[in-house]
Amino acid sequence: MYIGIDDTDSRDHYCTTYVGTILQEELEKTYLMDTPKLIRMNPMVKYKTRGNGGVCLRIIEDEKKLNESEIESIKKLVIKTVEKFSDFDCENTNPGIVFLSEENYQKNQKTLLNYYNSVLYDILKVEYSEKILNEIGAEYIKYKKGHGIIGALGAIASKPPFTYELLAYRKSEKWGTEREIDIDSIIKMDTDTFPFTFNNIDGKKSIITPHTPCPVLYGIRGISREILEKAKNTVKSDELDKCQVYITNQGTDVHLRFSKINDIYPDTGVISYGKIVENPKEITGGHVLFKMKDDTGEIDCIAYEPTKEFRNIVRKLNCGDLVGVYGTVREDPFEINIEKLKIVTLQKIYEKNKFCECGGTLKAKGLKSGYKCNICGKRVNYDQIKLNEVKRDIKEGFYEVPPSARRHLSKPLVLYDFDLENIR
Ligand code: ATP
Repeated sequence: MYIGIDDTDSRDHYCTTYVGTILQEELEKTYLMDTPKLIRMNPMVKYKTRGNGGVCLRIIEDEKKLNESEIESIKKLVIKTVEKFSDFDCENTNPGIVFLSEENYQKNQKTLLNYYNSVLYDILKVEYSEKILNEIGAEYIKYKKGHGIIGALGAIASKPPFTYELLAYRKSEKWGTEREIDIDSIIKMDTDTFPFTFNNIDGKKSIITPHTPCPVLYGIRGISREILEKAKNTVKSDELDKCQVYITNQGTDVHLRFSKINDIYPDTGVISYGKIVENPKEITGGHVLFKMKDDTGEIDCIAYEPTKEFRNIVRKLNCGDLVGVYGTVREDPFEINIEKLKIVTLQKIYEKNKFCECGGTLKAKGLKSGYKCNICGKRVNYDQIKLNEVKRDIKEGFYEVPPSARRHLSKPLVLYDFDLENIR
């Protein structure tokens, strides 16, 4: 039996993973439980609280199938827990619960796969999710506007590639207070476990702790459970209330698809290749923007101010460079928000050699008169001046925004060495 839950929290209260963790703890007292999943969906969804995440729990029925009364009591428990830990007062909190039997899950693999793709790439309507839920024989509960069913089904429908996140929760009396966590221990944990854990720190700043008053104390992302356990034991913090390892699609780039420029539409994620046709320029607010073109069209690509030193790479690009841009697309202004940049080939750039053999400088005297040396008077025709290749202060290769500017779903370059398809 699959249980999907989403949209229970607000910026001020609770966390959907906390509901998942409480339920997991309760259900595993009686049933064999699969590892719970924390699934991030289209990051362009406007009414998300933080990282657009939903959770999925699964009761494994390989040995013993659930009977009717067990199913009923599981549903009751889930409903009671979601209702207890949802912030119904927040306008933007519209919880949703989905129940799907193992049989219907197995029977509807193709529909679920298509749904997972659309919840990652597109903006869906509640009615669309309801149609799919009815089609696959799922049961669902909508609270208020019921947006939560969109992500609740998305979490159930997810498939590899995956990574893991260990979520540590604090005691309820500590919710809303400042988190006590020793930064040196986080740095040590990162040194000891990187690259098997990732996105722990940015420079000397921790990025494993949220800034909201929620139950989460910290979350460590990684590619194996064992390494996460080791990492947890290194971090010194407030007393932990609970701890749960989730399987997650974080750090996998599953929100991005290869796309020709003409096919790009707003609120989706793309990987597009093209040549730069307008040099990078500074935009108010510290952002850097360039224009890219392929054989189907042109699009602006932007590195926002929070991407900090990454903008220095973008600033060094030049017309004619062939690049791959990884990112999400804004509607207005219509542009790609760059998450990663692949510089495939750098255009050779030349400048006029204005040095005369005598040591003087060749001065331009107009298109017809060419250049004249300011010391020996030697003349050089306008189109005969020598050209020197300018050394580019940048290398071909793959570049990414710093950890603190990364989306949950963005795949850090360091993870390209690992097979994330076999995590399940
Ligand atoms: P947190 O990360 O703290 O759990 P959140 O950022 O996940 O919060 P939610 O409160 O879950 O934010 O709100 C996101 C809402 O968007 C949910 O109702 C979810 O069902 C819905 N949603 C998810 N994916 C899509 C999508 N592709 N199209 C439309 N709605 C979506």
